[in-house]
Amino acid sequence: AIVAPQWASRLRDIADFPKPGILFKDIMPLLAHSEDFRGAIAAMADRWRGQKLDAVVGIESRGFILGAAMALELGVGFVPVRKPGKLPGKVLREEYTLEYRSDCIEVHADALPAGARVAIIDDVLATGGTLVAALSLVRRLGVEVVGAGVLVELDGLGGRGRWEADLPLHTELVF
Ligand code: 5GP
Repeated sequence: AIVAPQWASRLRDIADFPKPGILFKDIMPLLAHSEDFRGAIAAMADRWRGQKLDAVVGIESRGFILGAAMALELGVGFVPVRKPGKLPGKVLREEYTLEYRSDCIEVHADALPAGARVAIIDDVLATGGTLVAALSLVRRLGVEVVGAGVLVELDGLGGRGRWEADLPLHTELVF
C-alpha cells in the first residue's frame, strides 16, 4: 500500500480562493513546519540526485520557495521565472493562455549559459499552462530542461497531458 508521507498532512484546502468555485491547495502550513518542510524538500530533491544538474528554475511565487530550498539541498544555482515587469535586466517573455485569461512570464536573457541542465520547479500543477510556458521560455535560453517537479498534481485538469510525454514530470502527491 502507498502511504502518504508525513508532511502531506500539512497541506490544506481553502474553498473559493482566489475565486468562488476554486478549491485552493494551500502549502503555507507545510512551509511553517520545520521538519515537514524539510521532508517535502528532501522528497523533491531526491528525484534529481545523481543527475548532472546545473540549476533549479523556480516559478513565481511558491516555486521560488520550494525551488530555492531544493537548489541549496542539491548544491546548484537558482534561477527565477517571474511575472512580467519584475526582473530588472533584459528579459525573454513568454505569453500563454489559461482557460479564461492570457498570462505572461519572464526570465533574464542572461540567466543561464547555453547547454546548462536545469529542472523546473513549482508548487502545484493544475491545467499545466504555467509549467508548459516555463518550459518553452527557458528552452529559448538554449538550456537543456531535464524535467520538472511539483509538490502537488491536481489530477483531472489535464496538466500532465500538456507536458511532453518523454520529459520527466515528478509529482510528490496527486489529488
Ligand atoms: P496551471 O498553470 O497549471 O493551471 O496552474 C499552476 C499555477 O497556478 C502554479 O504556479 C500554482 O502555483 C498556481 N496554482 C493553481 N492552483 C493552485 C492551488 O490549488 N494551490 C496552489 N498553491 N497553487 C495553485
